[in-house]
Amino acid sequence: MLRAIGKSTAVISSMSARNLCSQTSMRLKGKVAVVTASTDGIGYSIAERLGQEGAKVVVSSRKEQNVSDAVAQLTKAGIDVTGVKCHVANGADRKVLFETALEKFGGIDILVSNAAVNPEVGAVLDASESAWDKIFEVNVKSAFLLAKEVLPYIRQRQGGSIIFVSSIAGFQPFSLLGAYSVSKTALLGLTKAASQDLATENIRVNCIAPGIVRTKFAAALHESESARETALASIPMRRFAEPKEIAGVCAFLASDDASYITGETIVASGGMPSRL
Ligand code: NAP
Repeated sequence: MLRAIGKSTAVISSMSARNLCSQTSMRLKGKVAVVTASTDGIGYSIAERLGQEGAKVVVSSRKEQNVSDAVAQLTKAGIDVTGVKCHVANGADRKVLFETALEKFGGIDILVSNAAVNPEVGAVLDASESAWDKIFEVNVKSAFLLAKEVLPYIRQRQGGSIIFVSSIAGFQPFSLLGAYSVSKTALLGLTKAASQDLATENIRVNCIAPGIVRTKFAAALHESESARETALASIPMRRFAEPKEIAGVCAFLASDDASYITGETIVASGGMPSRL
């Protein structure tokens, strides 16, 4: 009985989440946004939402086919979009990513660094050295390099916004995602440090820490009944996030509505614990 009530509450909550997310404005008209890892999941939703709010958007990911599919789908939805293959750990790919934005849309105002990997499941001190290296190369070093390399473009526009996608696991490590959690904590530090360096240049640096979001990346947590029940028990709102609910936070941070916010991480976790 209690379980049945829990389920119906979750259905109602996710319906109201969909309704809340259907409201958009044109806060980003005239802006150009580059979003990494944006052919699926949270990144795709972010690209879609920034585009719906008026930004021209460059989508990217490792696989050419995924890029063309995402571009086709977003174009169909009326978004001014282009796309390019970019593995974030590949320097040549990152160069082409930013050059594409310049050639197609004339500059860059917003970078959303969203890519992450987790090649191994386990406690932090059980992680293999190769998994640790891969996780830090993609999740942290590439985020750092993307931010460093986009700076000349954003400086040319006399201001802009950089947004990193971390995780609730960056605050409260997930026991089976040890090294991944530490990499996400590093992004909180990167956000603070870079935001302080850039604060006088009208370049804001912020971060989003999503809870558990219904995407392929988190499939192990929401696809089987038993995993779903365990995961939901740890979420005060008793439901997973939809990617659109993270995209809305990103659009806010990228917009002038967040013009006095820098060095901040917004937690969107349905109440999962982060900090006071
Ligand atoms: P997802 O649904 O699995 O989407 C992954 C996207 O990333 C795809 O477009 C994939 O396309 C691309 N991609 C993967 N590796 C890449 C790389 N090295 N370079 C460029 N693109 C790459 O994942 P998601 O759940 O949306 O996760 C997005 C971000 O949110 C990650 O930083 C993740 O840590 C964070 N996050 C997720 C959750 C969650 O519960 N889902 C919670 C907290 C934080 P290709 O295969 O074509 O490369």
